[in-house]
Amino acid sequence: MQRIKHNYQFNLIRGAIELLPKKVKPYLDQVDFVVDYNPYWLGYNPPKAIKDGRSYLNTCHCVWSWNTPDNKPVIFLYSENLRLYDNPSEVIWHEIGHAIHEQLDLFTCDWIGITNYEKQDWDWWGCECFACSFERWLFKDRQVDDWENNQEMQRKYDKRPIEFFNNLFGKLN
Ligand SMILES: [Zn+2]
Repeated sequence: MQRIKHNYQFNLIRGAIELLPKKVKPYLDQVDFVVDYNPYWLGYNPPKAIKDGRSYLNTCHCVWSWNTPDNKPVIFLYSENLRLYDNPSEVIWHEIGHAIHEQLDLFTCDWIGITNYEKQDWDWWGCECFACSFERWLFKDRQVDDWENNQEMQRKYDKRPIEFFNNLFGKLN
């Protein structure tokens, strides 16, 4: 279910999507966005806390389709969380990365994580590494992301994600 109250929220999401390569867009056909809603009001029943202690009630996240009432992946966004980042689009791209991963059957991703967030031992199927790698892949000629990373940095650690996303979506530029 899509729940976007205000035009500026819609524009923020549309702006982030417009910057994505064309071949990413079919992966968004089935994805819904919810902005600034309490998941419980919408019939979702998230766990009380994320494994690192944050709450699903105010942290942007992607809900896998099998956990949603209409079997579509849903990206929950929260303004107060987006405001913590210089570029909110990067958070949206990260969550879109999760939605892409699900549509690729959530294969176990054994790429090497760069940030501590990707190295957490609860993430045994590598979904954070997948989403962060996707987001880094988008930064070829766009300087560095919020975490000071880009394709060049990715290549130093593990070049498999670059090859993976180049094959799937085409090389950037
Ligand atoms: Zn994530």
